[in-house]
Amino acid sequence: MTNKIRTRIAPSPTGFLHLGTARTALYSWAFARHFGGEFVLRIEDTDVARSTQDSVDQILASMKWLGLDYDEGPIYQMQRLDRYRAVVDQLIAEGKAYRCYTTPEELDAMREAQKARGEKTHYDGRWRPEPGKRLPEPPAGVQAVIRFANPKDGVVTWDDLCKGPISIANREIDDLIIMRADGVPTYNFAVVVDDWDMQISHVFRGDEHVNNTPWQINIFNALGAPLPLFGHVPVILGDDGQKLSKRRGAVSVTAYEENGFLPEAMLNYLARLGWSHGDEELFSREQLVAWFDGSHLSKSPAQWDPAKLAWVNAHYLKALPDDRLAELVAAQLQRRGIAAADVARVVGLFKDRCSTTVELADWVAMYYAEVQPTADDLAAHVTELVKPALPTLCDKLAAAEWNKAAIAAAIKETLGAHGLKMPQLAHAIRVLVCGRPQTPSIDAVLELFSKETVLTRLQRA
Ligand code: GLU
Repeated sequence: MTNKIRTRIAPSPTGFLHLGTARTALYSWAFARHFGGEFVLRIEDTDVARSTQDSVDQILASMKWLGLDYDEGPIYQMQRLDRYRAVVDQLIAEGKAYRCYTTPEELDAMREAQKARGEKTHYDGRWRPEPGKRLPEPPAGVQAVIRFANPKDGVVTWDDLCKGPISIANREIDDLIIMRADGVPTYNFAVVVDDWDMQISHVFRGDEHVNNTPWQINIFNALGAPLPLFGHVPVILGDDGQKLSKRRGAVSVTAYEENGFLPEAMLNYLARLGWSHGDEELFSREQLVAWFDGSHLSKSPAQWDPAKLAWVNAHYLKALPDDRLAELVAAQLQRRGIAAADVARVVGLFKDRCSTTVELADWVAMYYAEVQPTADDLAAHVTELVKPALPTLCDKLAAAEWNKAAIAAAIKETLGAHGLKMPQLAHAIRVLVCGRPQTPSIDAVLELFSKETVLTRLQRA
């Protein structure tokens, strides 16, 4: 093994960067940063039919948003075909891989026969060269695939960084196709050539790959390549106890960005999901790097907890300087077609009651766009009892200096003049001016509007 710590994330661009891959990327990144090593981004785009540029763009944008900077890449597997072919040729020449001409129909028949005999289905090795064995004549017009001649005996063992020692017997594993007939390598082969060429020392990935690892270890060994260490991170389960998937809620990183989450909160929450450092729940990027040495990874599946994520996000949202928060809220408003300037002036009053910038945008939108009180709210709060007080209030506000104290005084005088209680008038003002009956302290809320806007909205009663 090389002494240098080198990790990688190797997403397939067949969809967005989902939360599981983002978490593995985060662990790989933090591990490399902790040890002063290097982190590589590789795009595993050999599934040509399903890979898209759009997915690549989304993956790159998600990595950037999360602040997972890489030292090399993006490296695209489809630009390395010559290299995979050269390695395949070498393996064939050494008798460690072979051409297989079995047709799909023959494979089906093979499996049916095995099933009928009650056997586990597997490739039966009919094209595998063996001493003293006569191979069939290659049929005309059939393009060969290349299979790896997996060792028949022995056990593949590794000490997994997350799961501890794992052993799988070679008799459980058949001769894997490593290159398709069109010359494009399959995942298990390309991943090994790449991890070797890129001198990857530690592979963190989702535990759906545990069953692939014995093949990969055997291929590393066949190539005489040093083995990296493997850490298979348990899956993330949704609140229904099922694996998170595209069908179960928004699982792309970009969806969280759009839904008003902050990258520092996602980073913190994702890191904690499957790893711990004592009882720490809230930690910075720098603390994560300082603490993340590959230990304390959880062996059991993590549970996605939207309420906890909201709590973490609220924490970071409150801590953000108002001008930075204002930029994010302005971007949310922009998405709704609302152009907003000087948002920093208004975010402070509402940020304590919000978990996301979307919720915050819901509040501050009233300063930049017309509000539409519902008929129910109007009927419930702008009552015949309160209506006569509104012209008085407007007169007093019109004459007032525009600050919180003067606004509070104008409201108080109106209450006295009409024998009303504070909630009666305040609710009516809120519904008319803010479009909702509940807000923070009404004088503080009104102060942030222009006097003209408040008077216009009050006068439509
Ligand atoms: N392309 C594979 C995936 O997205 C990479 C697995 C690995 O890290 O080896 O699952």
